[in-house]
Amino acid sequence: MRFVAYRHQGVEGLASADKAGNYRGYAVTDAAFPGRLASLIAAGEEALLSAGRALLEGPEIDIDAVEFLPPLPAPGKIVCIGLNYADHSAESGFKVPDYPTVFGRFPSSLIGHGAPIIRPRVSHQLDYEGEFVAVIGRGGRDIPKERALEHVIAYSLFNDASIRDYQFKAPQWTVGKNFDGTGAFGPFLVTADALPPGCAGLQLETRLNGEVVQSASTNDLVFDVATLVSTLSEAFAFEPGDIIVTGTPAGVGLARKPQLWMKPGDFCEVEVAGLGVLRNPIADQTAAFAEHKGHQSA
Ligand code: MG
Repeated sequence: MRFVAYRHQGVEGLASADKAGNYRGYAVTDAAFPGRLASLIAAGEEALLSAGRALLEGPEIDIDAVEFLPPLPAPGKIVCIGLNYADHSAESGFKVPDYPTVFGRFPSSLIGHGAPIIRPRVSHQLDYEGEFVAVIGRGGRDIPKERALEHVIAYSLFNDASIRDYQFKAPQWTVGKNFDGTGAFGPFLVTADALPPGCAGLQLETRLNGEVVQSASTNDLVFDVATLVSTLSEAFAFEPGDIIVTGTPAGVGLARKPQLWMKPGDFCEVEVAGLGVLRNPIADQTAAFAEHKGHQSA
């Protein structure tokens, strides 16, 4: 089942898609609104699926006319994995890791499908990273690998847009990965039952202005989704609605000769069959607070 969290004429809503690809749903102001995705996920898989069916009783939503919001505006944890495709490790000058390379994003960096990725005032080294996202449904600590996928309720797409010079100003990548308006998340939340286990065996493609810049199979992950959930849960308990941004394959702009940076007027797309196309234009940071207009409140 496929969900879209949206805003239309200033009011948030939630829609799901029927088999023909038509979207129906409710605004938060409707009595039949079933709740936001974060609370539905916390209520469990059956609650999420039953909300999806209930949304199909609502009026049709023209998704070309609405503003897409990140499916989860404020995950408790945004766990990002670096160097999780061997070819990307090589192009970046790193060895293939034997333990996941983890960094965090703050919810303040998130934007939805269609919102501009912001090139900041202080740097023009704005790079793309097409990735898919695993969404935790059931929490837990020390989750065994063979049960790990039972804890993943859904998947989505991410553009882990990175400010490269800031990423490498210090040994920790955090700042370069957390500029406002750089974490594109969406367009949909797709339940795990609609996808292969672990989202494996799918082609991940990133396009800049329509040209393919990254193309890889999700089978090429160094640490697959089950391994990530299991290994990381040795360190911390996962909670419902946490997300794992699983890493990007080769082809980033940083590693190209000449280097390729995203600039205003460009548009970047990330696609995985079944998860849709996450498309974002690029825009310059303008006035101090202008880039916050695209953010929704948690
Ligand atoms: Mg990344």
